[in-house]
Amino acid sequence: MRRRGWNPDVFSPMRAGDGWLIRVKPPEQRLAAAAARRLASMATRWGSGAIEITTRASLQLRGVSEAAFADLAAALREAGLASDDPALEQRRNILVSPLAGDDPTIAGDPLALARALAQRLADPAYAALSQKFSAVIDGGGVLPLSGWRADIRITVREDGVGIAALDGTTLTCLAEEAPAAALTLAARMTLETRPPAPPPPPPPAGFLPYHGPDPGPCPGEARGAFALVPPFGAMRAPMLAALADLSEGFGDGWLRLAPGRVALIAGVAAARAGDLARAARAAGFITDPAAPSLGLIACIGAPDCAGGDAPSRADAAALAALLDDGVARPIHVSGCAKGCAHVGPAPVTLTGVGRDADGGGRYDLAFDASTEHVGLRADHRLLSIAEAAALLNRGAARE
Ligand code: SF4
Repeated sequence: MRRRGWNPDVFSPMRAGDGWLIRVKPPEQRLAAAAARRLASMATRWGSGAIEITTRASLQLRGVSEAAFADLAAALREAGLASDDPALEQRRNILVSPLAGDDPTIAGDPLALARALAQRLADPAYAALSQKFSAVIDGGGVLPLSGWRADIRITVREDGVGIAALDGTTLTCLAEEAPAAALTLAARMTLETRPPAPPPPPPPAGFLPYHGPDPGPCPGEARGAFALVPPFGAMRAPMLAALADLSEGFGDGWLRLAPGRVALIAGVAAARAGDLARAARAAGFITDPAAPSLGLIACIGAPDCAGGDAPSRADAAALAALLDDGVARPIHVSGCAKGCAHVGPAPVTLTGVGRDADGGGRYDLAFDASTEHVGLRADHRLLSIAEAAALLNRGAARE
């Protein structure tokens, strides 16, 4: 596999319109409540206090000061939220079933596999792997990862694993053989470029019972996970601290991150799900799976991002409130053509191209396109959000 591009991390921050952006990848997408509180205070001390959950279940701190890089990196490593090796940190893009270890319907031991794969990635023998190497380890269960693409997909079963590489190669083997086999397949891949990522599945929200709607013979003891979604993945530091409190008050004291910009609290008693939902809503999280904004993707946009042509996040919230239920989703609302929030195509993509005197954005709209293509082949141009909503609600398509 050839080296192509990079993802921002603690050793390789990215310059964004609102300062430096640092992506934090908690191992196995989980962090203890104490670590979450430490991260919230790091975001306030060294950044703007803005924290995002990314599409692929990482966290990113925004508005970080350049002078704080060394202190922040040291604090993250001390909190167990970053590795010591910059090369490993780049390639440590392993998405594992977020409820592994708690959801009894998950097959095998995906967490052990994720740890073994991360350990093997540290071997210098794999130094030539792409810095954008990615793996998905899916044990099924109540929150399967079937809609999420990666260079290497490992499907865990009770009797072994199936491995599928992005170039179409597949094999089956024992779980203990999987890390070596997966990295051998990855090293042989000769993809010039990765195909565009498909639109992400809708994020889960609310209570997810481990055994479905039937609570079984002891309904009072039924358990599940609870999915909380910050609007468009965006939080301020106090929201992350509130998540830590909720995980201790209602779950096992750990936060789990799921793709789709979701935070999970595991081990929640069904009888307490209503109380948790109320507390989560009070803290600013979405808990209703039918919430209109869940079908929209939006970057931070103007004015917080200096590179933004339109206030995408505020406009996406306005658009969600105007759209009819039947409009196809996901809808990507981007502050400019860079498309930071989603790199692939979406059923509807709105790319910001300017602003009106009242501050609202103007957008080019294209169907089944990514932001980089909207400028070339927009189906409708220079729409306000109200015009875009009216057009989508009447089922308009290409001109
Ligand atoms: S896509 Fe959004 S976040 Fe990225 S540069 Fe443009 S406005 Fe800023």
